[in-house]
Amino acid sequence: MILTDTVETRAAQTLPRSLYAEEDGPWARTALTGRAEADVAIVGAGILGLSTALALAEAGTSVIVLEANEPGWGASGRNGGHANPGLKTHPDEVLRDFGQETLTWAYGAPTTLAALIDRLGIDAEFRQGGTYRAAVSEAGLRDVEALTEALIRHGIPARFEDAAAMEAATGCTRYHGAMLDPVGAQVNPLKYTRGLARAAQAAGAVICCDSPVTRYAREGAGWTVATPGGSVTAGQLLIATNGYSGPLVPKLAQSLIPVFSAIAASNPLPEALRGQILAGGGVLYETGTVTIYYRVDAAGRLIFGGRGQMEEADGLPSVAVLRQLAERTWPGLAAVGWCYGWNGRVAITADHYPHLHALEDSGLVAVGFNGRGVALTTALGPRLAEHLRGTPGALPFPVTAIRPIPFQKFWPVGVNAVLGADSLLRRLRG
Ligand SMILES: Cc1cc2nc3c(=O)[nH]c(=O)nc-3n(C[C@H](O)[C@H](O)[C@H](O)COP(=O)(O)OP(=O)(O)OC[C@H]3O[C@@H](n4cnc5c(N)ncnc54)[C@H](O)[C@@H]3O)c2cc1C
Repeated sequence: MILTDTVETRAAQTLPRSLYAEEDGPWARTALTGRAEADVAIVGAGILGLSTALALAEAGTSVIVLEANEPGWGASGRNGGHANPGLKTHPDEVLRDFGQETLTWAYGAPTTLAALIDRLGIDAEFRQGGTYRAAVSEAGLRDVEALTEALIRHGIPARFEDAAAMEAATGCTRYHGAMLDPVGAQVNPLKYTRGLARAAQAAGAVICCDSPVTRYAREGAGWTVATPGGSVTAGQLLIATNGYSGPLVPKLAQSLIPVFSAIAASNPLPEALRGQILAGGGVLYETGTVTIYYRVDAAGRLIFGGRGQMEEADGLPSVAVLRQLAERTWPGLAAVGWCYGWNGRVAITADHYPHLHALEDSGLVAVGFNGRGVALTTALGPRLAEHLRGTPGALPFPVTAIRPIPFQKFWPVGVNAVLGADSLLRRLRG
């Protein structure tokens, strides 16, 4: 029997204060107690763990999801809500590295999400207004022009929007041009994640909250997975802990850079501003070292995100730089005011691709969505489920060894040096 490093247990945490958590209220949490059995055990109830659990349960495979806190507590319940097509990497590189099937799959991920929300009837404020990749510099303009050309070459219905079109779309003069992929969409991420959790439960999955997995061990042909309150015996094991991966899987946390991304939510915009900023329901992210991203939600609030402090944030003071940038971009915002500020961990990999790793012969780790996980993990879950059920060739990425990033433990220092508040503000001023 192989025992992994043990994980220190800590008190379970409620959802961080955010617009989403305040609007949606508490979740009924039940912890694992005693011994349980399932075909598959999943660690982590984010979009990935839950979309995999849903697909398994719908296929008749018994599954238990073990979550340290509650569904959506990690990045899935606190993100920007952009369902973006594709991977972070240029489509030519994706084609070279993984082939046409993976490229098509990744660019179709928002469509997969749209179909799932529709099929399950999840009320998650879904709106498919397209994704803009918007250039804030001449170099960025060349980047988005080339990207648009490449996407069209790959049969993806992207188009180039010039500076005048971007001013009309955003009500500001910040952009030299943009690539618009009409498949991109927006969603309330906590409502979506909870909708997935409910659907998985309705299909027969068991979701245990306040159940941090402290150790897993090989037992016979399967696994035992332990939490402070009990244990699960399962034939297969999936680790879906992404930016919140701790010491549970040796070297896993060292293979990821868990960069914080922060979000400021405004009060509902007055009609005039609402008509100017992404009124078509689209989502936008910018080119450049510091990615700024935003959308206007169903209540007309600007949900404005970007890099911020490299520690847990809580409240509006922690997102002051983002608020300043937004108010400079749309001066009318200063009078509207802001209601929430929060942040969370995005799991960045060295090659900017998602990573799949094997745990012996029947366990799998899936992490590293590089700020693209909303649509991607939705589309990946059913593929992981097929793989766990024994279908060969179901995975869109190869299974690789875990590779720690050299000097990973110094990441907060490095990121702060590049993105410290002063430097961040300078870069954002662009
Ligand atoms: C502020 C922010 C904004 C973002 N914006 C976007 C966006 O607009 N679009 C986009 O596509 N992506 C965005 N992302 C990234 C996106 O949210 C993630 O890629 C996606 O949600 C990944 O989901 P996941 O299920 O892999 O992980 P997570 O949702 O992070 O879930 C991991 C879960 O594992 C649990 N866990 C960890 N260790 C254990 C353990 N030992 N035992 C039990 N449970 C454990 C955690 O409690 C957590 O709930 C953003 C992320 C952040 C933080």
